[in-house]
Amino acid sequence: MAGNRDKDLRAGTRLVTTGRSGSFSAHVVNPPVWRASTHLYADCASLREGQKSNDDGHFFYGRRGAPTQWALSDALTELEPGAAGTVLYPSGLAAIVAALMAVLKPGDVLLVADNAYEPTRNTAMGILKRYGVQHRFFDPLDVDGFAAAFCENTKAVMLENPGSLSMEVCDVPALARIAREKGAVSLVDNTWATSLGFTALAHGCDIAITALTKHVGGHSDLMLGAASAGERWYRKLRMTAQQLGHVVSPDDAALALRGLRTMGVRLERETATALALALWLDARDDVAHVLCPMLPGAPGHELWKRDFTGGCGLFSFVLKDRDDAARCRLVDALDLFGLGYSWGGFESLAIPFDIPPIRSTMPWPKDGWGVGECCGIRLSIGLEDASDLIADLDQAFAAMDKG
Ligand SMILES: *Cc1c(COP(=O)(O)O)cnc(C)c1O
Repeated sequence: MAGNRDKDLRAGTRLVTTGRSGSFSAHVVNPPVWRASTHLYADCASLREGQKSNDDGHFFYGRRGAPTQWALSDALTELEPGAAGTVLYPSGLAAIVAALMAVLKPGDVLLVADNAYEPTRNTAMGILKRYGVQHRFFDPLDVDGFAAAFCENTKAVMLENPGSLSMEVCDVPALARIAREKGAVSLVDNTWATSLGFTALAHGCDIAITALTKHVGGHSDLMLGAASAGERWYRKLRMTAQQLGHVVSPDDAALALRGLRTMGVRLERETATALALALWLDARDDVAHVLCPMLPGAPGHELWKRDFTGGCGLFSFVLKDRDDAARCRLVDALDLFGLGYSWGGFESLAIPFDIPPIRSTMPWPKDGWGVGECCGIRLSIGLEDASDLIADLDQAFAAMDKG
């Protein structure tokens, strides 16, 4: 059944067909959950044959996976134009750390976008530094400054698009082109958009990283990560993951595959609801800034329109002339929004955030933002009805000012 047809299909259809053509899953809709450490060989000859190939689809030992994990890797590879393969990791952060370890060695310098996810920053300042890799943070909105930040030993660039919490969209094609000209490998944390909304490799990046915990899992019951790349970097990622002993459970791989099938409709719905909420927030006097790339006029909207084919339910806003106590009254009064980390699930979440402690070089507060206007709240929009979420926010804003 499956074969060449897949590359002609649109993304929504590929979410259904992808990762199902392996011979192990040809007779069922979903690959079985194949729990195994040991695979038995028929004889010494087949055992020795098994040692020759280090590729998905070949049994060796449980740490190299089995049909359930291979089906997920295949699916993610098929969804990422330009990818030769995908390596799975026990979390999104594990994917980031292992990918950086795959491309860097002692003495190298890593450039990290200043708006990257905080644990990514901590990886640069922590384990990578201890192993002899230096880092420099750069403002991803300043392309000339980025080009000037390279030195002879700069070997990798870590991007995130849009940036965590403050949601700036950067010019990935321009930054990736500069990195390539300077001989550095570019990695991008593409968790926000996934390959459905932003084709990272096709836009010039070498390695696309996704926390599958978020949109792919989609149900807040799973932690998993992935890195996809063309042949050269895929081999490096694969060898490094194997040397680090990374392996993911077949149960989690099966959950991720289940989530993947509905990711397109969930993202569409969450994007539409997020946009409705962003518009509603934007019209309020007590909101200073809405940081939502899908919102016309918001920071990064033009680049988002140019480079992305979709959005998601994650965005932020900044309260106007309110302090932390007021913000806490608002968040605590929310009923439909849970208060907790992570995002991309079917349920809506809210979390307060402050930017200054997690920026090194980007100007913050931004020009014209005013020091009193830094009280941020990040929302992750789920599948609830938009009007219910707006009503919940409305009563929480009222509670904020009652305090
Ligand atoms: C959550 C997140 C990660 C890490 O994923 P985990 O599975 O929680 O380790 C990485 N990048 C971004 C942008 C995230 O939001």
